[in-house]
Amino acid sequence: MLSKENETPYMKFSELNLPPDILKSIVALGYDEMTPVQEATYPIISAGHDLCALAETGSGKTAACSIPLIQKIDTTLNAIQGLVIVPTRELCIQYVNEIYKIGAKSGVVPFGVYGGFSKGIQVAKLNHEVHILVATPGRLIDLMYEGAVRLSQTKCVVLDEADELLQTGFLEDIEFILSCIIQEHQTLLFAATMDDDIKRLVDKNFRDPRHISLIQERLSPESIEHYFEYVHPKNKQSKLMRHLKGEDTQQVLIFCNARHKVDSLFRNMKKEVDNIEYIHAGLSQEKRSSIYRNYRSNKISCLIATDVAGRGLDFSNVSHVINWDFPGDGEQYTHRTGRSGRMGRKGKALTFLTKRDLPQLKKLIRKLKITPLWIGENPLGKDAPPKDEKTQKKKRHYRPSRNRRPKSSEKTGASRRGER
Ligand code: ADP
Ligand code: MG
Repeated sequence: MLSKENETPYMKFSELNLPPDILKSIVALGYDEMTPVQEATYPIISAGHDLCALAETGSGKTAACSIPLIQKIDTTLNAIQGLVIVPTRELCIQYVNEIYKIGAKSGVVPFGVYGGFSKGIQVAKLNHEVHILVATPGRLIDLMYEGAVRLSQTKCVVLDEADELLQTGFLEDIEFILSCIIQEHQTLLFAATMDDDIKRLVDKNFRDPRHISLIQERLSPESIEHYFEYVHPKNKQSKLMRHLKGEDTQQVLIFCNARHKVDSLFRNMKKEVDNIEYIHAGLSQEKRSSIYRNYRSNKISCLIATDVAGRGLDFSNVSHVINWDFPGDGEQYTHRTGRSGRMGRKGKALTFLTKRDLPQLKKLIRKLKITPLWIGENPLGKDAPPKDEKTQKKKRHYRPSRNRRPKSSEKTGASRRGER
């Protein structure tokens, strides 16, 4: 079903010339290839430029920043050389863990400070040895006022999840913290969305920043063909198999609403479908990482996923999104289907419906203003929105035209990395 030509090999960490201790730690984490944001930002951060990087949640921004940051630390100097500001305590802990796992062998000491935890213990640790401080803004400012945090040797400042930081009203705090770092330093910003506050912050505080954007634009509902099929739950699988065999698919992504459904659908389908895999939060981190990787490089041609696990996926080769279960609301539907059909192709979504989904389906059609294309019976009957000619025609031909495969020229390093 798939040709090797479509593979988009990402750089491997082993090609980076990293110090052996860092590389060993990265391998131990199960990372082999870099994610797009890691590949795009590594040279920029290493070269010392300021950076404003946009990439989706789950794209590996923590390691993208942590790896070059760790390399900048002089472990013979007992001082905070890297400062990472994050919006929440959970992210703080997660960030410290990632830095610890990657940098501990090299002697880099990270530490996290956040509200709701004993200040005394934090002060004691700060007085001892910390190379990279990860902090939420409020507690950081407290500790700066108390003289427990000294930033006079800080050479790199990171604003992580900056969109969330600013949404939670930390703009003034951030500006205050940045204004306290008066020596020359590098500033890095990571976010999943760009807004005016971020633009202003970057314009005002960054020095000739490089911009990277890896946000995949969502396809609007109009540029997707929305097929629906009313089925008896017992017949879902045979219908699905018929579609998969009859269609010219590139990569198929099937969404279920629960882990056990993913499991059982996978068990049933793997006998009949090659290169099929499944992913949900019940799998180990390593297993999930390996699936994300194989999916990205097209080694997996059909993937069954839950919504949560689906968030980290690269949709660039997905030709068909199938909703095995009806996605609860409009947002979920858009999220699942809106990223199919990249590279100028039209996206194609097929949603199986059972009787109890019909009230929600009506709402969905109204809310997203989509034109449903029915395969078989239209269960909405006379309540259904009027079918225009186009709809009728499509209904008779659920053998959509061949999907255009991306040409190799469309996948140059620069476009893949989304450099602007
Ligand atoms: P983001 O900050 O962009 O939301 P994270 O940094 O939290 O994303 O990473 C998301 C997940 O991807 C984490 O579980 C992380 O361990 C994993 N991950 C990061 N980089 C890689 C990689 N190069 N290979 C495989 N998995 C990775
Ligand atoms: Mg993050």
